Amino acid sequence: MTAARGPLRPLYAQASGSPIRAMLALAGREGMVSLAGGHPDPALLPADWLRESLLEVAGQLQGRSLQYGATEGLAALREASAALLQQRGLAAQAEGLLITTGSQQAIDLLARVLVEPGEGVAVESFNYPAALQAFRFAGARLVEVPTDAQGMDVDRLEAILQAERPRMLYVVPNFANPTGAVMPVGRRLRLLDLAAQYGVTLIEDDPYGELWFDAAPPPSLAQLNQQAGSPAQVAYMTSYSKVVAPALRLGVLLAPAGIARGVVLAKQAADVHSGSLEQLTLAAMLASGRLGAHLDALRPAYAAKGRALAEALRAHCGLLEFDEPQGGMFIWAKLSSALPLLPTQAWVDFGLQHQVLVVPGAAFSISGAAQPWLRLSFANPAPEALRQGAERLGRGLRSLATAH
Ligand code: PMP
Repeated sequence: MTAARGPLRPLYAQASGSPIRAMLALAGREGMVSLAGGHPDPALLPADWLRESLLEVAGQLQGRSLQYGATEGLAALREASAALLQQRGLAAQAEGLLITTGSQQAIDLLARVLVEPGEGVAVESFNYPAALQAFRFAGARLVEVPTDAQGMDVDRLEAILQAERPRMLYVVPNFANPTGAVMPVGRRLRLLDLAAQYGVTLIEDDPYGELWFDAAPPPSLAQLNQQAGSPAQVAYMTSYSKVVAPALRLGVLLAPAGIARGVVLAKQAADVHSGSLEQLTLAAMLASGRLGAHLDALRPAYAAKGRALAEALRAHCGLLEFDEPQGGMFIWAKLSSALPLLPTQAWVDFGLQHQVLVVPGAAFSISGAAQPWLRLSFANPAPEALRQGAERLGRGLRSLATAH
């Protein structure tokens, strides 16, 4: 007799939902300042540009625009995406690209097609939680690689690869979520060497690379690999969520042909293809040639917000230590040892009490155990709310330290 279980597979029945999503439900409360979500600033989302492109698409709509499309994506969008990746220094052809339903889908499909249940996926100590969730649902064993202010600690990687033999390694080299870290080029090259030597497929997730403040990040792992004659297997993905709009749910995957073939099969099973109306709209937006100017406007706007939050934290939060953000959407702040290590729920209560939501490090860790870190996002709130949030956070942290 088999043991009784509920309708869900245990993998899903036992999974916890994202604590960040739970916090987002509180973010809309009257008077709340949320430093919790990694969502773009609505004032910086291009509603006018999108509206104009949408009207253009609507005006040209025909019966055949409403037909099923290719799993790989709309030709015009693949062309425009290839041009974008070429601008980033990648040798990319439209035929080699896949359009995905957000980069989230690329993460999910890659995990499904590359990892046998029980095989290892190497990840940094702190990660984007929905990537960890996708790897868990694929049955992967998560293998931790320590991380520091410069991203994955590649000096410690070789021993881990030898001992654990992971099948793939997931990394966000530019303005990582949650650490904001940028991996220096020396580490990138060493990571590629090790990946080639140990036969580990690298999954390079780059949703934030364009959102740099003073200087663009170093070349991508995929670009460095191409320059070296592609000794390693690198699947590079990026997203239109942060540079255009998350509502479109569109991302791009550039993967070696053998891997791309598996992802296409998995995508056929998942959703056949990404929504054609969104793809048509994005293709029209890109064809208008306005992306460059849009990015030129986004970078200083996010830089100003990042600097405003950093300045306010320095003024009000003596119990936090952090590096000045260089891009992306996050400040990763270390809690002073004068503060208690609290579980995630306690930070939700803290948020309700002090009217400022922050995400504790536990939400990004593999074990979910309490960590002396907070992720503070400067992307969404208006500048005045950022200052107010830092003030409330400082007050709340001082009261925690006193009670400790
Ligand atoms: N990767 C990282 C590191 C992210 O932070 C996010 C979204 N916050 C994603 C992937 C997924 O983005 P999307 O599916 O909207 O492209």
